[in-house]
Amino acid sequence: MTQDSNTIEKIFCYRHPDRETRLRCNKCDQPICTSCAVLTPTGYRCPECIRSQQKVFDTTRPADYVVAALVSLVISFAGSWIASFLGFFTVLITPLIGFLIAEIIRWTIKKRRSRTLNKVAMVAAALGSLPLLVFLLVGLLQGGYGLLGLAWQGVYTAMITSAVYYRLGGARVSI
Ligand SMILES: [Zn+2]
Ligand SMILES: [Zn+2]
Repeated sequence: MTQDSNTIEKIFCYRHPDRETRLRCNKCDQPICTSCAVLTPTGYRCPECIRSQQKVFDTTRPADYVVAALVSLVISFAGSWIASFLGFFTVLITPLIGFLIAEIIRWTIKKRRSRTLNKVAMVAAALGSLPLLVFLLVGLLQGGYGLLGLAWQGVYTAMITSAVYYRLGGARVSI
């Protein structure tokens, strides 16, 4: 029979022992059937390898981005008002505000995190600090006052953005 030549190389899906297959996961080399295989840019992967890969790179849910953006936006905006009264002390207070934002985000989304989430939080922190910055800039252009206040707001925007990113980014090391 012609079937005999095939029996030499017969392999079966490791999740479905009754299904013969020709595919192997290109990471762990386990045989997988077509319904188990997931096509990635680098080839077919088994579900296990896909899952462990996502665990490392991205464990967030879509709602996490909304939460992170809102927390970052609102607190950064509130912080910019506080900073507008602080002058030099902006430099001391802003890292604490960044810390607060990062802690609340981390607490809300638990252990889930991703690089994209950090960027979303960072951009939201920058956006949250902008209204006051623009307000002061307009004031300066129209009335010629508030140059120092504007300068500190600029410092705040730069610091809050990097503080949020640094705080969230530093947490990823613990995985
Ligand atoms: Zn695999
Ligand atoms: Zn299978």
